[in-house]
Amino acid sequence: MKKLALVVGHTRARPGAFAVAPIGQSENTWNTDLATTMKAIADTDADAGHPGAVSVSIFTRDDGGVVGAYRRARQWGADAALELHFNAAMPAATGTETLYLTPASQGFAAVIQAATVAALGLRDRGIKTPHAASGGRGAANLSQMGARPSILTEPFFGSNPGDCAAAHTRKRRLAAAQIRAAGHYLNALYDGDPDDVATLPVALNGRGAPARWTIHPPDAPRRVRAFGARKP
Ligand SMILES: [Zn+2]
Repeated sequence: MKKLALVVGHTRARPGAFAVAPIGQSENTWNTDLATTMKAIADTDADAGHPGAVSVSIFTRDDGGVVGAYRRARQWGADAALELHFNAAMPAATGTETLYLTPASQGFAAVIQAATVAALGLRDRGIKTPHAASGGRGAANLSQMGARPSILTEPFFGSNPGDCAAAHTRKRRLAAAQIRAAGHYLNALYDGDPDDVATLPVALNGRGAPARWTIHPPDAPRRVRAFGARKP
């Protein structure tokens, strides 16, 4: 089974941004709970033999900071890493974004972004590099996994009451959407036809919702449409 490292953003001592009501929690507190829910969903999917299931382990930055968390994730054998945050800015700022740095992480970012937008229904701010998003913050976090996908999710703005209401109400939906999108993507990335990986971002429908979750039987030939309009 593929292994996904969940890295909880910030630390107990320096817990990051604080979300307004109805959340009323720091990034570290809210995302510690979110990670626990994501792991529980992943474990249930694995027990049920779900073909897209992943093994999940949670890593914190409390011991050794960013470098320590990712070192332990690599030692565990993580195939990919997803670091959990939420955004903060002026009250009017709204929406979902996903950060990536390396080319190998871009497809994973696109899949998680689409799943997150579908789960929360907030504005799609797209996938971004740390430089494009915030002058480079997060680049060190996203440089720790070598050739393996490593992304950072900012599902909503903790500074926006409407975003917080959506994230509070749909927290479990968010957890399930991200963990299942990650599982589907990682299983396709490492086991499947390379065309399947290339097709995943365009297999999402116009509102960003996954068009399908079913795994194609290996003996079912199918036509794939590459990025752009090129015919196979
Ligand atoms: Zn943060």
